[in-house]
Amino acid sequence: MNFNKEVIIIGGGVIGLGCAHYLIEQGASVRILEKDRIGDGASHGNCGLLYFSDLIPLCSPGAVSHEILRTLKGTSPLYIKPTLDLKRLSWLLNFAFKCNDSHKTRAAKAKFELLTSSMTLFRDLLSLEELACDFEDKGILSVFKETANFEAFQETDNFLKDFGLGARKIEKDELLDMEPALRQDVAGAWLNRFDWHLRPELLMDSWKKYLLSKGLIIEENCQADDLEVSNGRIKSVNTVKGKFEADDFILATGAWAPLTAKKLNFNLPVEPGKGYSITMERPEPCPATPCMLYEKNMVVTPWKSAYRLGGTMEFSGYGTTMNRKRLEKLMTGAGAYLKEPLGRPLIEEWTSLRPMTYDDMPVIGRAPSQENLIVATGHGMLGLTLATGTGKAVCDLIYGHEPGINLKPFSLERFQ
Ligand SMILES: Cc1cc2nc3c(=O)[nH]c(=O)nc-3n(C[C@H](O)[C@H](O)[C@H](O)COP(=O)(O)OP(=O)(O)OC[C@H]3O[C@@H](n4cnc5c(N)ncnc54)[C@H](O)[C@@H]3O)c2cc1C
Repeated sequence: MNFNKEVIIIGGGVIGLGCAHYLIEQGASVRILEKDRIGDGASHGNCGLLYFSDLIPLCSPGAVSHEILRTLKGTSPLYIKPTLDLKRLSWLLNFAFKCNDSHKTRAAKAKFELLTSSMTLFRDLLSLEELACDFEDKGILSVFKETANFEAFQETDNFLKDFGLGARKIEKDELLDMEPALRQDVAGAWLNRFDWHLRPELLMDSWKKYLLSKGLIIEENCQADDLEVSNGRIKSVNTVKGKFEADDFILATGAWAPLTAKKLNFNLPVEPGKGYSITMERPEPCPATPCMLYEKNMVVTPWKSAYRLGGTMEFSGYGTTMNRKRLEKLMTGAGAYLKEPLGRPLIEEWTSLRPMTYDDMPVIGRAPSQENLIVATGHGMLGLTLATGTGKAVCDLIYGHEPGINLKPFSLERFQ
């Protein structure tokens, strides 16, 4: 076994850094090619939740009718731009087909292994002094405005309990004592202590510096254009900075990965799912625990150093223009649950593209016809959470080690 493998990772998001971390630990020489700067994609301004209890896929029974109803009421966080793009239409149709009980159970079982592995690995990673990132492991509160929704969450919790990931039901009086920042008219909450949070842009920055100190080579402003293939293997990547060769290659370009897959003639049904966030100084009063605002499908994350509102899901292609209506929706949404939803001054308004698969499962596996290319994308709403488990699994695939988790449900074969 060659322990001094040379590996090129295309894409410097959290998945790229996760892969680099375990490969470097294994003794590989690793180079990341990033078209912009490390952490400039979806990994920068996300909500920062390490959402280890998030087992249930987006495509679960009733998801489509629920969203249609919310769209009619004008309360949906989802926007689908009308399109004749067959690729996007087929993605949406496949998503609708997956909204059934058997997929929900299969996806949860598969995700459970990857989530648990990620949690164990994050525990070690975040104990490194160099990785300061406002990390806290105090759980996530799912907060409800409507009593019917609060009570109905019991069914979700029963499902989570079967995996040992159950939450605690918190009635209104206890909740208001615990979180005085919440408005009096909330119905209650469920606290899941398996979940953690951190500030993602701080993690990206400190992880990058840590890996550089361990020998990682980073090429920024270095878009990978074409991959040269010979005898079923990738030989090199052509970039604006020239040609790079390696033993193994990893495609970790998030929402942009299908653009490369297309050039290599394999099907990678990942659609960009646009999300937004607003980062501010902490308001007063400020919640102590991150809150998932259930009816608005959005998140409020407090850190020692800042405070963020994030969410919305737009299927409208690769554009990253900022839609002010979406930002306003985040602010009014938070105002329905919090006494003071906005902190001052404003630090950043942000948008980026999540890599969404129609079965809401990541893609971790070898490309169908290029044996030395591993694809690691499609992490949807959970890329930060799954970065360590994915990085370790990719490293195991490259070194031919037994991954310790079943990677078959994440393989590309399911799309070919
Ligand atoms: C509003 C919002 C909130 C979210 N909240 C959470 C959360 O709380 N918890 C969670 O776990 N997840 C969350 N997510 C999801 C998470 O951010 C993503 O799943 C994750 O960042 C994906 O990581 P990635 O490395 O695959 O992609 P990215 O971070 O997008 O990285 C891909 C990189 O590849 C680069 N690239 C693209 N093409 C090329 C090329 N040809 N050559 C070189 N480089 C290239 C891009 O510039 C980019 O830097 C959220 C997302 C959004 C939008």
